[in-house]
Amino acid sequence: MQVVAYLVYLLASVLFIFGIKKLGSPKTARQGNQLSALGMLLAVVVTLLDQHIVSYEYIILGIIIGSLIGGILAVKVPMTGMPQMVGLLNGFGGGASALVAFAEYFKEADMGLTFEMSTLITIVLSILIGSVTFTGSLIAFGKLQGIVTGKVVKYPLQNPINIILILAVVAATVIVVMEPSNINVLYGIGAVSLLLGVLLVLPIGGADMPVAVSLLNSYSGLAASMTGFVLSNNMLIIAGALVGASGIILTMIMCKGMNRSLMNVVLGGWEDAGSDSGAALDGPQKTAKSIDAEELAMLLDSVQSVVIVPGYGMAVAQAQHAVRDLTNILEKKNINVRFAIHPVAGRMPGHMNVLLAEAQVSYDKLFALEDINDDFPNVDLAIVVGANDVVNPAARHDEKSPIYGMPILNVDYAKTVIVNKRSLNVGYAGIQNELFFYDNTLMFFGSAKEAINSLNNELKAL
Ligand code: NDP
Repeated sequence: MQVVAYLVYLLASVLFIFGIKKLGSPKTARQGNQLSALGMLLAVVVTLLDQHIVSYEYIILGIIIGSLIGGILAVKVPMTGMPQMVGLLNGFGGGASALVAFAEYFKEADMGLTFEMSTLITIVLSILIGSVTFTGSLIAFGKLQGIVTGKVVKYPLQNPINIILILAVVAATVIVVMEPSNINVLYGIGAVSLLLGVLLVLPIGGADMPVAVSLLNSYSGLAASMTGFVLSNNMLIIAGALVGASGIILTMIMCKGMNRSLMNVVLGGWEDAGSDSGAALDGPQKTAKSIDAEELAMLLDSVQSVVIVPGYGMAVAQAQHAVRDLTNILEKKNINVRFAIHPVAGRMPGHMNVLLAEAQVSYDKLFALEDINDDFPNVDLAIVVGANDVVNPAARHDEKSPIYGMPILNVDYAKTVIVNKRSLNVGYAGIQNELFFYDNTLMFFGSAKEAINSLNNELKAL
């Protein structure tokens, strides 16, 4: 039985690895998800058949309840709510790891406390990382959901307090290793770790939460991996390591896309990030020119190449289907239509790709920043749909701007730029966008879905 279990664990691990590989492209992502899910099912079934676990009835009940909750959430939660859902699930993963580590301690304690030092240290690490992940993720969820303040929370002696708490955990670990029967110290480590999770995530601004969630995701993987060592379960070690590594890579990609260091995000970067109310432009007030649907339809009638740049606004407005219809109408008029996708457009990595895939925009029309940016001078019309920061030219030249250095889509190099959003208000970074006031920019005001639909109607009427 043991050999069969190991072989199935190995197969499940291979499925996870191929699953992640396939997530690399929108074309194969669904298949990747299915492969990983199959791997997880195999791993769960084999663990079920293993000898050393609680009764089957409880496990089957757990699987049924868990699958039901997961299924309902997956159907109900809107795409824009995904970051907080992922945050919550990370938290449960971390919490589970900490509880399993405690359970393993009690099991060993029943057998006479003959712990090896390495086992004790991994139990403590599991409790520490799992608990930090649990409360940290709950705070992240609260911030994204608007239950906890989204502001950057600063309090006196913030860093010294955190360092003292971390040192306390290290000291407590030494005590546990020297005196394994001291369960109170272990409880103390759990309590301090729970507090650390809150204190580490609370200072991070609500708008930086997706990065924090990705980092916590990586922690939950580490916690699972540690628990794998505690239980001597290779499957858990491999799966945890995969989550830990991919979480940290994703975190780094997001930081790079925003041109910010992880430290800057974790220590609470942009003070006013997340405020969506318009901040005034410095210097003399300029005026933006606007265009309506009828005029834009006429303008479109005379162009040959169009690049559409989607952003967070397209996601909130659920305008991807209207944008797909626009693409079809323009293509019927023999206009070349491409999409330029910024790596951090929207509120989570791949946000735009997922929405456009859902609306059945074909993948070969989607271009990554580095593949399309040099081509903007040849583009007749760039249509920005609900994007703001990712097309702000200040990132290229204004050293004082918080987004200075962030790679942006050079839409302003196109012959004409159309920007569709509801107002001149700021986006995620809380800063004005000089693009709106450029000579070659025309604002197409309105909520994305209605605005693009009315443009489509005008185009059809031409
Ligand atoms: P932004 O957040 O910069 O701007 C979105 C714009 O959408 C707003 O200015 C808003 O303007 C407009 N909008 C809101 N609702 C609607 C609507 N119904 N119809 C039309 N427009 C609407 O979005 P971007 O995608 O350009 O940039 C993403 C930002 O998020 C970047 O700063 C990035 O760093 C950050 N970020 C991204 C993450 C990721 O992984 N993708 C993770 C964390 C942060 P108005 O109110 O006038 O309509």
